[in-house]
Amino acid sequence: MNKHKVGIVGWRGMVGSVLIKRMIEEKDFEKFSTFFFSTSQAGDDCPFRFSESNKLLDANNLDDLKKMDIILTCQGSDFTEKVYPKLRDHSWQGHWIDAASFLRMNEDSVIILDPINRNLIDKKLETGNKTWVGGNCTVSLMLLAINGLIKENIVEWVSSMTYQAASGAGANNMRELLKQMGYLHQTVSDLLEDKNGSILEIDQTITNTFQDQSFPKENFLVPLAGSLIPWIDSDLGGGLSKEEWKGHNETLKILDHHYDPIKVDGLCVRIGTMRCHSQALTIKLNQNLSEDDILDKISNGNEWVKVISNNRDETIQNLSPAKVSGKLDILVGRVRKLKLDENIVSLFTIGDQLLWGAAEPLRRILSIITVK
Ligand code: NAP
Repeated sequence: MNKHKVGIVGWRGMVGSVLIKRMIEEKDFEKFSTFFFSTSQAGDDCPFRFSESNKLLDANNLDDLKKMDIILTCQGSDFTEKVYPKLRDHSWQGHWIDAASFLRMNEDSVIILDPINRNLIDKKLETGNKTWVGGNCTVSLMLLAINGLIKENIVEWVSSMTYQAASGAGANNMRELLKQMGYLHQTVSDLLEDKNGSILEIDQTITNTFQDQSFPKENFLVPLAGSLIPWIDSDLGGGLSKEEWKGHNETLKILDHHYDPIKVDGLCVRIGTMRCHSQALTIKLNQNLSEDDILDKISNGNEWVKVISNNRDETIQNLSPAKVSGKLDILVGRVRKLKLDENIVSLFTIGDQLLWGAAEPLRRILSIITVK
């Protein structure tokens, strides 16, 4: 049997690098013939020995792209907007798999998160769907965390308060966060050496440093290290950020409206962590369940959910971005019924947003398509 020809674009970025690492771990490259494309380095040597071509192909060359059965891109929305319509206009019939949001809400795109919507994916594959888009990282992680409640049709609404990592904004932003940390540290490193020195002087120096002309903030525009940014993505007006808009709208699309409509809303905040998103969820159930029942349902949601007991030691030791970074686990802790209402429960969930929030659903849809 001829192997599928798979073209990968955007492999050097944040999502792309994590994707390639996972594909190597899972030996995915043995299953198809892979070609690597670049928007900036076409013609250079390809760094991967499993590539069919020893040179990088031009990601803006439609003729080369059209030879692919499947194109997987982590390049970003600008690339998708430029290339995808032209390929389809030229009658290219291949599968397009995309990390960017540009095509997400299109009628002929499926938002892929197969532990949640495998039935929808299979149905769409059978009816000839060819466009597959990864979901927003925060939405995907939230759905994986509370899958056990959602699939039982008992969730009325979810309020999500997020603590999102720098990696959600890309490779350059992750670097900038670390540069900001280093910049802050070097302004007070001498003062820190003096154990009897004034903490107020240290604090004042840091506060002043935020205003330095040379403080590195080209990407985030403001300090993130030692601070936070309570706005993510564009401004939709009415006080709503696009990241917050995605919570409700992508959830309904991923669930294919099969369940009673769930309302999702909240506030999205960028914090100075590297690659794991955390979310405090307040969930209104449509029935009064015991905490044990709720925990039972959450832990049976899927094989990646790991429930952390709601006590101080377990929480500080095991429920943190540092603990789950680089892992596929979806941590769920602090589960507690709130005094506000007998049907309201709160929890805290953390996941590696570069894995389940970005690369893993793309890797898995590629496997699903190529074994069909
Ligand atoms: P990224 O790290 O900025 O990489 C995108 C492209 O930028 C790379 O493929 C590379 O293209 C170019 N690039 C420029 N400077 C670079 C540098 N210093 N290091 C590496 N690459 C550099 O973007 P991303 O975070 O992977 O996101 C890609 C797409 O996925 C976006 O549409 C994003 O919205 C979406 N997405 C991201 C996340 C996330 O967590 N970051 C999650 C879900 C979806 P060339 O090699 O062609 O120059």
